[in-house]
Amino acid sequence: MSDISKTLTEWYASNKRDLPWRHTKNAYNIWVSEIILQQTRVNQGVNYYYRFIEKFPDIYSLANSDIDELLKIWQGLGYYSRAVNMHKTAKEIAKNCKGKFPDEYNELIKFKGIGDYTASAIASISFNKKTPVLDGNVFRVIARLFGISDSTQTKTGKKIYLDKTQQLMGNHNPEIFNQAVMEFGALQCVPKIPDCINCILNKVCFAYKNNRVNDLPVKKIKTKQRIRYFNYIYIKHKAYIFIEKRTKNDIWKLLYQIPLIETEKLLSIPELSRNKKWIEITKNTNPEIEENHIDMIHVLSHQIIHTRFYVIKISEINDYITSNYIKIHASGLSEYSMSVLLKKYFNLFNN
Ligand code: SF4
Repeated sequence: MSDISKTLTEWYASNKRDLPWRHTKNAYNIWVSEIILQQTRVNQGVNYYYRFIEKFPDIYSLANSDIDELLKIWQGLGYYSRAVNMHKTAKEIAKNCKGKFPDEYNELIKFKGIGDYTASAIASISFNKKTPVLDGNVFRVIARLFGISDSTQTKTGKKIYLDKTQQLMGNHNPEIFNQAVMEFGALQCVPKIPDCINCILNKVCFAYKNNRVNDLPVKKIKTKQRIRYFNYIYIKHKAYIFIEKRTKNDIWKLLYQIPLIETEKLLSIPELSRNKKWIEITKNTNPEIEENHIDMIHVLSHQIIHTRFYVIKISEINDYITSNYIKIHASGLSEYSMSVLLKKYFNLFNN
């Protein structure tokens, strides 16, 4: 066991990527990088990390910021609840912990958006606590090295991986060990066709010796993607347009959007004209509907969104529009944080 850990940490010393968060042990920076890297590739995450730290260099700057400023920085990263939770946690740490992250896993995990993985990463990297980090890369390395076929999605399965990783960590420096296993999974023991022939651990690797590399770790059961239909209404009134903030517990919470009518299928103009919300929006406005609509499909990990964009010009603004939407100058649209889907639409078709 200890030989494997030694090999991994030596491999890490000579192969690790030079990433900005590896130049610090500051818990704030480690937290920011770990949250950004959930669901985000490292290459993309690096740019977001730089922009984030430049705008919010410490916990107080983040805690005192407006959520809209944060969402603007986060724009394009997806899973916006991560940013919303970060904002809440920053406020709590600034107010109740004198701006300092606690150094224990059990305390860290109590904060919004800090799960098992992030708490272990902060505790081990910033405070040198012996808390193994279990991310997708680590699960894969451990499953293959030791021939573990248990699912990572069950409590019992997780415990098996945790115990094995803890044993492997032994008395090695937790910060270095955790980063070494994660990096080994990211660069060497990759999901598809790893270069096992040239791997430094092939002599001790269960999966390689037993021809099980492609079977381990056991594949996750794919969750069914929800199909949704969004009819967007881009309302223009002279030099102005109308937007709203998404406030419900749903995708893109707190981001802005143009008026939206969600339906069971995409609507044609005759179908739209019978829709209650459309009737409210267009009542007494002398609407002029542009004949050609734009259709786009937007795929998220758990949802497929079929979208249709209608553009209407109105000469009058009715009470419904005034009470439900925010009137902004069309040239100021880019100041509002929006989903990647809407950004794409405006970049491609708004001229
Ligand atoms: S031999 Fe192959 S499967 Fe085993 S640790 Fe190395 S890269 Fe991963």
